[in-house]
Amino acid sequence: MNDTLIVAFAFIIGASWGSFLYTFIIRYTNGMYTKNPCHALTYPSHCPHCHEKIKPVYLIPVIGYCLTKGCCAYCKKPVSLLYPLSELFCGIVAVITVLQFPLAIAPVLFVAFTTSVSIAIIDTITMEIPDLLVCIILIAGIIITAIEGEVVSHIEGAVLMLVVFILPLLIKKGGFGGGDIKYAVAMGFFLGFSETIVALEIALVSGALFGILFAVIKTKTLKAKIPFAPFLTLGFIVAVLYGREIILLYYYYI
Ligand SMILES: [Zn+2]
Repeated sequence: MNDTLIVAFAFIIGASWGSFLYTFIIRYTNGMYTKNPCHALTYPSHCPHCHEKIKPVYLIPVIGYCLTKGCCAYCKKPVSLLYPLSELFCGIVAVITVLQFPLAIAPVLFVAFTTSVSIAIIDTITMEIPDLLVCIILIAGIIITAIEGEVVSHIEGAVLMLVVFILPLLIKKGGFGGGDIKYAVAMGFFLGFSETIVALEIALVSGALFGILFAVIKTKTLKAKIPFAPFLTLGFIVAVLYGREIILLYYYYI
């Protein structure tokens, strides 16, 4: 396959994945997933105003939005611009990933990046992390491990996350939520031991700094509950992109 075909293919698949993730985020945050997960996943796309089923041609990422000029084809009510924007964003991320990483791992990295961003968005809105998205990170981790080998390092990454996230629960009540723990363990497995240390440090430091700032500014006390997934996601993406360089810096200075 030549490069232009690969880029075009990556954009179409990436944008379609973006469409799925955006719909999932909307349905999850609206409580539809909690009521009936199977229904939320299989329910055909429909207009939120008139509830008409959307024709397949209008479901084509980005193009569908342009064809209907950003309105429902039936009731003419406006469709959120976030739909085509999230499709466009994921399409572009897919193209960048394919151009920057070996083809064998690019699809897995793309899915892991975009899923981790979706987890951060959902946790910020609902303070919950969907198990389905954590499973996607875990499956991506299993595929990466199968491609790269080094099974022990990946298991060590998962165990490290488990220990760090379970400890606060054992010492005192509170600490991290169950969703955070599952997400962190899946992430640790994906990253492997060294990169997990990088992700963990970034997540804990950025989360602590934000937590203190947020608590002092918003609640004037130090007891404030903030979603932790956005900081884990930040650590995850930085660790995947620059983990090796950061680890080399450690060795250089220490
Ligand atoms: Zn409508």
